[in-house]
Amino acid sequence: MTTTTETHGVDPDPTPLALLLLGRQADPNSERGVECPGDLPAASDPGLVERARTAKAALGNRVFILGHHYQRDEVIEFADVTGDSFKLARDAAARPEAEYIVFCGVHFMAESADILTTDAQQVVLPDLAAGCSMADMATAEQVAECWDVLTEAGIADATVPVSYMNSSADIKAFTGKHGGTICTSSNAKRALEWAFEQGEKVLFLPDQHLGRNTAVLEMGFSLDDCVLYNPHKPNGGLTAEQLRNAKMILWRGHCSVHGRFSLDSVNEVRERIPGVTVLVHPECKHEVVTAADMVGSTEYIIKALDAAEPGSKWAIGTELNLVRRLAKAHPDKEIVFLDRTVCFCSTMNRIDLPHLVWALESLVEGRVPNVITVDPETEKYAKAALDRMLALP
Ligand code: SF4
Repeated sequence: MTTTTETHGVDPDPTPLALLLLGRQADPNSERGVECPGDLPAASDPGLVERARTAKAALGNRVFILGHHYQRDEVIEFADVTGDSFKLARDAAARPEAEYIVFCGVHFMAESADILTTDAQQVVLPDLAAGCSMADMATAEQVAECWDVLTEAGIADATVPVSYMNSSADIKAFTGKHGGTICTSSNAKRALEWAFEQGEKVLFLPDQHLGRNTAVLEMGFSLDDCVLYNPHKPNGGLTAEQLRNAKMILWRGHCSVHGRFSLDSVNEVRERIPGVTVLVHPECKHEVVTAADMVGSTEYIIKALDAAEPGSKWAIGTELNLVRRLAKAHPDKEIVFLDRTVCFCSTMNRIDLPHLVWALESLVEGRVPNVITVDPETEKYAKAALDRMLALP
């Protein structure tokens, strides 16, 4: 069992992440940061909406635009479908006639779309600097090293990796190679149940909070059954005995957006809005999820608000673009953002109208920009892990 601070709260020494200037720098060790070749339209161009419409119309069925729930309104307006990352990847796979899939999301989502679509389709990410800080918290080298640590502790054979959809293709491939499965925030419980039928322990990557919340709140494990593997410490900061005693080995990764909500946010909103129902995403910290009234994925949150009584009051703990759109869609309900501070997914927000226009106009001109391609070997094993998820009961 790790320290209380590490188990329940913010990590004492957060994972270092360099800040990159928007679309202007490269970080070869990260999924973020490359230059946009060509001229990006100015954000102040009053003709952007018209330009996006014209380019989209010119491409017709050859292009299919996917918009993640956390995208800006100006981008969502042009999306053919909206959804969470897995729904979008499946939607793309169901449109084989579309030559170009323009993915308004982040890098790992575009990779999953490439894995699930045909070789004839090309997946375009309008800004390659749109990565995910959580996905970046587990690299292939770190995870391979972790597996060596588990092997030395004599528990690798009994351990099944379960990786959250929010991970790079490399991590999905590692998972597939070692007999594990992918999960989403909607099916994490089913994925863990399956994994515990295959082995005695789970290595859960890369979101510690989704792993802990699902294991403890939905499956009856105790916090003592969980350990936190810190890839920045020798042997993950754990002894062989701690690893051997654990049921859930949680990777020390988190979402920088959902990780911001705190117990104070919950207490403050309850005081400010009497009778409010607090509904949060399972990527939030354990103490936040425990203090909330309801917990669920973005799709669950959307459905819960659709079904809510007029006049009911809600505080929502997920990304701000989505919460604002939900508040607008339900004027008969009081829907507020759980935290008083602004909390967008900054990497997701790198995809803006200028980048979308630039990507669409490039396609019209016959140039395919920012293509996301997963190499065949990685794709084979990542797909094996995704297929195991699809086969979950
Ligand atoms: S909301 Fe969190 S998990 Fe989702 S893309 Fe942004 S940083 Fe990654």
